[in-house]
Amino acid sequence: MSRKPIIAGNWKMHNNNAQSVELTEGLKAELKEIDKNLLPEVVIAPVFTSLYVVNEELNKCGCGKIKMASQNCYYEPKGAFTGEVSIDMLKDFSNLEYVIIGHSERRQYFNETDEMINKKAIAILANGLIPIVCCGETLEQREEGITDKHISTQITKAFENISAEDTAKSVIAYEPIWAIGTGKTCDSVEANRVIKMIRETIKSLKGENAANSIRILYGGSVKPETIEEQMAQSDIDGALVGGASLKADSFAKIVKGAMAKASV
Ligand code: PEP
Repeated sequence: MSRKPIIAGNWKMHNNNAQSVELTEGLKAELKEIDKNLLPEVVIAPVFTSLYVVNEELNKCGCGKIKMASQNCYYEPKGAFTGEVSIDMLKDFSNLEYVIIGHSERRQYFNETDEMINKKAIAILANGLIPIVCCGETLEQREEGITDKHISTQITKAFENISAEDTAKSVIAYEPIWAIGTGKTCDSVEANRVIKMIRETIKSLKGENAANSIRILYGGSVKPETIEEQMAQSDIDGALVGGASLKADSFAKIVKGAMAKASV
């Protein structure tokens, strides 16, 4: 089964409005000459405060080559939740299709739990958007030999009470925590092995169709030099990119490195 690859850039807490627009313009220029059908899905995740201006900038070209994600959301629709942003509010942005949830930085610094991630995933899907559910092990967990157990537990909890149909539409990002922002990329064959294990977990929970349809990305120090080998793996459907997404030329190189799989 062919799954459309996704290259998603997580800008984290970088870029004010002017910088966000500049980066978006740069990326648009880099991808200008390429036929949309030959590209993977290209997704950028600015900070909340820049979603408006980036959305406007994307509307200007009207080419639909670049979509947006938010880096987080809250699962309640509205109310007394100071500082939070609901999914309904994210739907104001016509180019926003994805919401990243459960990033290790949110789990680590903001105490996001598997239960919250599950509530967010349910609410995102109920609102017609697509969750990018992050999972991954620490170096200690890897050294202890509990990587697979830890990740399959994260995935099982994240997809509780979600139908096979909604699971099929979702996206998972496998991001070994020790590889995020460290420059140490996980060996591609090993990343593919873990991703296959995640697919098997989805198969046992939701059936074969969901397992074959769900897109599973690799994240953790993806660079222009690593993407082709990563995309050559059987089960890696794209990348979630942090640092290298903050420069238009390096992110565009990663996007281009995924084109061979995008046009299969
Ligand atoms: C990330 O933030 O999800 C990430 C993978 O970051 P980096 O590419 O910088 O390791």
